[in-house]
This record gives sequence, structure tokens and C-alpha cells, in this order.
Amino acid sequence: MNTIIIKVDAEKLRADELDQAAEYLRSGRLVAFPTETVYGLGADALDSKAAHKIYEAKGRPSDNPLIVHIADVKDMEKLAVDIPEEAYRLANVFWPGPLTMILKKNEVVPYSTTGGLDTVGIRLPANKIARDLIAQAGVFVAAPSANISGKPSPTQAEHVINDMKDKIDMIIDGGRATLGLESTIVDLTGPTPMILRPGFITLEMLEHVIPFIQYDPAILMKPEMDLVPKAPGMKYRHYAPEGCLTIYEGDTKAVIKAINREAQSKQEAGESVGIIATEETKPYYPYGTVKTLGSRWDEASIAAGLYEILRAFDDMHTAYIYSESFADNRLGQAIMNRLLKAAGYKVVNID
Ligand code: AMP
Ligand code: MG
Repeated sequence: MNTIIIKVDAEKLRADELDQAAEYLRSGRLVAFPTETVYGLGADALDSKAAHKIYEAKGRPSDNPLIVHIADVKDMEKLAVDIPEEAYRLANVFWPGPLTMILKKNEVVPYSTTGGLDTVGIRLPANKIARDLIAQAGVFVAAPSANISGKPSPTQAEHVINDMKDKIDMIIDGGRATLGLESTIVDLTGPTPMILRPGFITLEMLEHVIPFIQYDPAILMKPEMDLVPKAPGMKYRHYAPEGCLTIYEGDTKAVIKAINREAQSKQEAGESVGIIATEETKPYYPYGTVKTLGSRWDEASIAAGLYEILRAFDDMHTAYIYSESFADNRLGQAIMNRLLKAAGYKVVNID
């Protein structure tokens, strides 16, 4: 398949620029597009054949549901039933934006989109290209991250091209995804609202709107805890680089020493080594390729750069990657959730 790649600028978007992409979505084809979280791989969510193509292109397990993207808050009522009042409150505050709500699906949503579940994940993205595309297509757009299943999510068109060229119909290059981590997922189908996946919208932010929200206990799950996450996607190995990634946690000086010891010994054995550091610690790592996520105190920059760095180490075929650990509150919760999964929960505690 010949993949058409177009470049658009969200600031200067002309009405006709998305015509072909919108037509492709209407006719059951696959179009990758930027959102504020990561790049999405879109298809008509109510067309089960089109949804099926997404699973094929990504190599995604068929029980891993797709999030349905809408362009208007009212469209929530066309996809879901028994919508609780909390959903309207959350939509009011956080839409358009990086929040996905799980609601009971109605019969128009095919099981091939929801991975066989009676619930559906819905999001109204903030990115202008994404919203205009969905509105112009006039269909609801199922769009998981536009990466090969299991690899780090794509935050740039280049990442999508690497994974999806010749497998999908079109890629819209709209620049870097600004947030860089997938949406926060909130399940509103049970007695207590639950965060199934942490993201840019934090527990603290959600609590201001719906005070009794909780984390799904499986979120910071370690494999030995044997908890089954309610968001099916969270159970698969995810975001993983090719190399062996290990997280070091503990006192900063001790972490630097321990990483340097490992890095030196691997490098002397002829292995390639990568280090994920911060602006503050970068000068203290003499071995391997050192990449920084920005200041330790700038969580937004850490979130935005994480997948990019993992992919950069993939491009270099780095065999061993060592990362510092980050505080796991607020946005740090989402960062650590992705980093732990990427590392397959390999953590060395120095204390
Ligand atoms: P992705 O778009 O690649 O970030 O994946 C979407 C993720 O959303 C899935 O992996 C699931 O974990 C979650 N999800 C989507 N729909 C539902 C649903 N109906 N119930 C629970 N989790 C969902
Ligand atoms: Mg994904």
C-alpha cells in the first residue's frame, strides 16, 4: 500500500487541506493524525471492518479496546447510554483535552471497536487538526496510538512513518504532539469513578470536579501483585524499547554512582549503553550516550520527551539503557507508570 503523507500547520490550517483525509475516514480507510497526547491511528469507529484494519496494522491484540474520538460534546450521547452526571461535569471542565471517559456503550458501537466490551472509551481531543478532521469526516474516529503494538507511542510524524509506512492509507504530519503521554482514562461505569490509566489530567485535578474518584489499584501494579487491570491495554508489555531498560531509584548521588558502575562495565564489555538523565544530573555520567528529559522539576517536559528518547535509543540499537526514577505524584504518576512498563518493571532500589 502506498501511504500518502501530508504536512499541515495547525496554526494556518486551510479548510480543504483535510478533505482527502476526511474522505478516507468516511470510506473505511486508515489515517494517522496528531493529537495533543500522541499520534493516533484513525478509522471509522462504527464500521467494524475499518476498526479491524487498525488491529491488523498495529499487530494489536483484539481484546484491547479502541478509544472513540468525537468533535462535539453532544456526540457522547450518540455512543453511550446511562451517562452519569459526573461525565457531563468532567466534559465541561476537561474537554476538549487529554481525558478519556469509559461509559456504557449503545448498540451502534461494534464490539470490534470495544474489544468485546459493553463499554466504550470516548475522548474529545484538543488538537485543532484532530478536531477539524473528525468534524469534517462526519464519523466518530477510533484511534489508538499510531505505533506497532508494544513499541513506544509516537509523538512525531517521523515515528509513525517508521512504524506504519506502507501499512496505512495516510499520515498527517502536524508537528510534535505537545503533551507526549496518552490520555488519562476514567471509568464511570461502576459505583466509584476510577482512574484506569494516569495521564496529564491528574487525580488532584479530577478530585476538584468529582471528589470521590480513585486509582484502579492495578495502575502501579508490579507483576508479582497479580492484579488484573480494568483497562485491557494496561496488561500488555508496552512502550518498550528494543534494549534492556532498568530504572534506578533512591538517593540521587547513589543512583548516579550505581548507574555509572553498570554503564562502565557494559561499555568495557563492548556493549552499547544509553542513560536517561535530567539537566541536573547529566554532567555526572561519563559513560554511554546520555540523553536528558529536561529538568527534574519540569514534569511536563519529562512527559513530553519520554517516548522520543526511548525511540532515539531504538534508532541507535542501544543494548542497555539505564534511567533515573521520578517522583510518582501528580504528572509523575503517569510518567512512572509508562517508564515502569517500558522497563518491564525492572527496578533497582539503591537505598
Ligand atoms: P491507546 O489508544 O493505544 O492508548 O489504547 C487505548 C486504551 O484505552 C486501551 O489499551 C485500553 O486500556 C483503554 N480502553 C479503551 N476502551 C476501554 C474500555 N471500554 N474499557 C476499559 N479500558 C478501555
Ligand atoms: Mg497505545
